[in-house]
Amino acid sequence: KLHNQVEDAKGNIRVFCRCRPLNKSESSSGYSTVVDFSTASDGVLGVSTGGSNSTKKTFKFDCVFTPKDNQDNVFAHASPLVTSVLDGYNVCIFAYGQTGTGKTFTMEGTSGNRGVNYRTLEELFKISKQRSDTFTYNISVSVLEVYNEQIRDLLATPSSNSKKLEIKQASEGFHHIPGLIEAKVEDVKEVWNVLQAGSSARVVGSNNVNEHSSRSHCMLCIMVKAKNLLNGESTKSKLWLVDLAGSERLTKTDAQGDRLKEAQNINRSLSALGDVISALANKSNHIPYRNSKLTHLLQDSLGGDSKTLMFVQISPSEKDLSETLSSLNFATRVR
Ligand code: ADP
Ligand code: MG
Repeated sequence: KLHNQVEDAKGNIRVFCRCRPLNKSESSSGYSTVVDFSTASDGVLGVSTGGSNSTKKTFKFDCVFTPKDNQDNVFAHASPLVTSVLDGYNVCIFAYGQTGTGKTFTMEGTSGNRGVNYRTLEELFKISKQRSDTFTYNISVSVLEVYNEQIRDLLATPSSNSKKLEIKQASEGFHHIPGLIEAKVEDVKEVWNVLQAGSSARVVGSNNVNEHSSRSHCMLCIMVKAKNLLNGESTKSKLWLVDLAGSERLTKTDAQGDRLKEAQNINRSLSALGDVISALANKSNHIPYRNSKLTHLLQDSLGGDSKTLMFVQISPSEKDLSETLSSLNFATRVR
């Protein structure tokens, strides 16, 4: 492995905070901003928690992105991490936060304003081309969804989709999912098609796309096989890019039936993720990967010498204050 001293010195878990702009309906309803970005360049975010003496809490992160930061700025900070997958590292990047705070915007982006997923693959192809004298790279992609603790292959055709997908551990220690489609991709155009296919498959079988996507984890797995042409050595590494289910607590009216079950599964997997990362940050002996499908899937790319980046996404609006504080506290706990 090629070691980058500067990168290594930062440790293996990083947290970036990104705040979306106040939207039109919030500003027209007169909601004010509770977030203070005056110290954002130092990675410090201020939040006015209200009350008579206008209390302010501060949170420290590796990076704070304000509503003015665009997709280029964000990716510029994430790219050294994602490209370390070409040096044999396993990497995991995920977006955490309340629904409507920009998780999908950060990861997927829009066609005119592409996010981390697409930019990552673009960068991987670019660098692999630059290194083609010394390495051959073989890149493939899986797209899946975890909903109610069940794994669904978003690249499978609906008919082949009925079989149950389970996580197995291979002899060499790598986790894999027998039957999951791994689409080999050779260039960025193919990637876009694969990502689009994954997105549209998400819609199938749900009557409200936005609601469904806020209740399931959307996961992109990029597998990289590298062969060093000079010494013949091969490495295999994995990069997970995850758009998590919304972290909001459920409302009283939702506390029954299917909705309750969904919410319990989301809570379970998000707290399992928090437990795993804080156990890693505290160098604990036992890392509880097996408590959810999400953490079990991510196991190879969380811990060991793998690199983890969490985007904690927040809203600037006073109406979201309590969810914002809860997300920031979650993020602080894993740091
Ligand atoms: P989530 O996936 O967390 O539910 P979305 O990514 O769907 O949230 O974002 C909600 C809305 O806010 C979308 O219309 C999205 O385009 C917009 N949005 C989110 N973040 C930003 C940003 N940084 N800049 C501009 N628009 C944003
Ligand atoms: Mg979303």
